Amino acid sequence: MHEVSIMAEAVRMAVESAQAAGARRITRLRLRVGTLSGAVPEAMRFAWDVVSGDTIAAGARLEIETVPAAGWCGMCRTEFECADFFNECPHCHNLSGELRHGRELDIAAVEIE
Ligand SMILES: [Zn+2]
Repeated sequence: MHEVSIMAEAVRMAVESAQAAGARRITRLRLRVGTLSGAVPEAMRFAWDVVSGDTIAAGARLEIETVPAAGWCGMCRTEFECADFFNECPHCHNLSGELRHGRELDIAAVEIE
């Protein structure tokens, strides 16, 4: 389950920025997760409790924002919703391997006090 290492890294980064801001604890963490990022939100939530346990992020609310995957067609220059890395453009049927969204695995917000 690689979500554990993903969450450990997210906690490490959040704690680092919170401490740099002089926070006593983290109250909320918001992550942005693309549907093609390979990370499963349920597994991330499960891992969260384990990895945040003895940090200043313990007990913080975890919010996961899912980013739908979007492909990009260079032929007709349009963005379209997709479910895979390679997609046929729904407009001109050109095969495109370009993704605009879907690989996100970012910290969107850290709320501290
Ligand atoms: Zn197209």
